[in-house]
Amino acid sequence: MKRTTATTTDLKLINRNKVYRYIYENDNVSKQDIVLALGLSLPTVSQNLTELFDLGLLCYAGKFESSGGRKPKKISIIPDARMVIGVEIKMGHINILSIDLKGNTYPSERLELTFEPSEHYGRFLADEIENYIQSKAMNPETILGVGISIPGVLSEDKKHLINAPTLKARHVSIDALTKYIAHETFIENDANASAFAELHSRKEMETLAFLSASEGVGGAFTYNGVSYTGRNNRGAEFGHMTVVNGGKQCACGKSGCLEAYISTSVLAYGKDRRVDTFFKKLKEGDSSCKEIWEEYLTFLCMGINNIRTIFDCDIILGGTLARYIGDYFEDMKQRLSKIAVFEENADYLHLSNYTSNASAIGTALHFTDQFIKTV
Ligand SMILES: [Zn+2]
Repeated sequence: MKRTTATTTDLKLINRNKVYRYIYENDNVSKQDIVLALGLSLPTVSQNLTELFDLGLLCYAGKFESSGGRKPKKISIIPDARMVIGVEIKMGHINILSIDLKGNTYPSERLELTFEPSEHYGRFLADEIENYIQSKAMNPETILGVGISIPGVLSEDKKHLINAPTLKARHVSIDALTKYIAHETFIENDANASAFAELHSRKEMETLAFLSASEGVGGAFTYNGVSYTGRNNRGAEFGHMTVVNGGKQCACGKSGCLEAYISTSVLAYGKDRRVDTFFKKLKEGDSSCKEIWEEYLTFLCMGINNIRTIFDCDIILGGTLARYIGDYFEDMKQRLSKIAVFEENADYLHLSNYTSNASAIGTALHFTDQFIKTV
């Protein structure tokens, strides 16, 4: 039997990581707590704590009460000792935000920037990221990386954006978009990134299908905590399931796709094409809005019911729609229970925990996850 032997350095790093993660997960612990919980010797724990303090990752957060003798110090992680930038690329704008090691989100900024598959755009993107970092007075050395979400199908090696109907782009070199960014980058399909953020916020849920309804309609499927992206990295592209033979024109060039019926652009109201105005008018009882909403809900429920029929798992509804649909959610669930073949309720359906920026947060979490596992 072949054995792999961990070197002394490996073991040291493993121990250091155990110590960091214990403090990360429990917060405000004493040195003695760590010794007892991890079964490590006091000198080993002390050494690792010194290293982690030297890396600027820990702080003392007061003292515990003591029944006698010296009061033990409370040791805590410093959440913003490292930060990650998250960027959402959309057709007409980008959203930039940052998260700390605990996943706390710092305010996002929306910048008008029309997507184009060029180095010119890449330069703009890099400049805007730097502007964001400077405007928030962030120390560039604490930035672990820049996570970028993009609404389209990426190649398996993530070097090409193969097809992005909502960006009206095909076969784009990712390098052209990211090479001017002065930090490590990680790019991910927006729905996959949103599903990752969702998983993070729902520790009890390991298998889920995510349906993202924004201007583009995408999806993701995660099984036992692992994202399943299919043989060609375009699995769970729920937006392009055919729901009407020869139906409405879709942004992908085909017709009758679910996206053509449940894109939020269907709900864009008036000259400004605003979705929030649509919902305002709907609440006021506007008859044309009611008609549009009726058809929209019919197709939304059809899509969700199809996904449930295939995967038989929890489904999260996210994207821009999640911001508006709360008041109509119970109605939706009732409709779903009526069209379901195998079940009487739709308790499998959940509204996303994020009403905005889920995909930027999801890609940023990629870096914090890696860091916490390896520091
Ligand atoms: Zn389509």
